[in-house]
Amino acid sequence: MSAINQHPSCIDRAGELRVNQNTLDQLWEKAKIVHHAQGRIATSTTSLNFLTAQSVSEAIASGDFAEGSRYFLGLDIESRAPFFAWDTQWKKSFSDDESAEEEKSAGFSTLREMGTILSAQELELSLHATALSNWHQAHPRCPKCGGPTRVDLGGAARFCDADQSQHHPRTDSAVIVLIKDRADRILLGHQPVWPEGRFSTFAGFLEPGETFEQCVSREIFEESNITVSEIQYLGSQPWPFPASIMISFEAVTDNPEVARGDGEEITEVKWFSRAELKAAAADGSLLLPPGISVARKMIERWLGEPAQGGETWR
Ligand SMILES: [Zn+2]
Repeated sequence: MSAINQHPSCIDRAGELRVNQNTLDQLWEKAKIVHHAQGRIATSTTSLNFLTAQSVSEAIASGDFAEGSRYFLGLDIESRAPFFAWDTQWKKSFSDDESAEEEKSAGFSTLREMGTILSAQELELSLHATALSNWHQAHPRCPKCGGPTRVDLGGAARFCDADQSQHHPRTDSAVIVLIKDRADRILLGHQPVWPEGRFSTFAGFLEPGETFEQCVSREIFEESNITVSEIQYLGSQPWPFPASIMISFEAVTDNPEVARGDGEEITEVKWFSRAELKAAAADGSLLLPPGISVARKMIERWLGEPAQGGETWR
């Protein structure tokens, strides 16, 4: 069986170009620019709506958007054309609260809405832009001295002028695990915050000083009372909501009968054969995780075919 998300990058991140501001300024003038505003990205119904340097200037001049920040995302592998993100905020005042939300989202989508529609390259650009935006917005100050920091290295870092320290984005590691038994069934769990019928694979954050494998064993035991062996790496997926990477594994248990939820994070667990999963997904009694998620890819990889159904994001 093939691994998950092993395709090569569609972008050359060209880190060597980040160090020279003049170079970045020149690249900006001819760039295709991802427009990121308050957690949303400018899109049509099927693709990103790229801006140009000119249209960014016009949007600022019109008073609709703040100056914002520019992040260099890299070069197209073949054409070497540059890509940037423009990370900005609405400035325009909206009439009243309700229509403001509608107006703000017109022409803008979330990555969760567009994740399965965008091309591989557009998805990669959007993940990068979203992850950078989340980090920059949440880290305006220096962790050493508390002073203000500024965007550095074309968005790849922040810099504190007071103590000359440079700060880099963090990515939080989370493991996600497909548990199988010796009959090749899989175990899925239900979280109480989810709609009824929604089941997914088990996941949890890596703790300091832990290996991924130790984290898999600990999380699985905590959430499902299952002990596993034969832990195999499947692949990874950036998940910038707000700053994670999902590292996916499968693992096998010899004692499927002891599976039970922890009553807090997981309130129900169920074993599925392929036939049971297909039938439940088809009749709507089982809501699978959405197409953009690595959980869905893990389940379909085991199933050997695309699964039916799948809810939208809550
Ligand atoms: Zn500082």
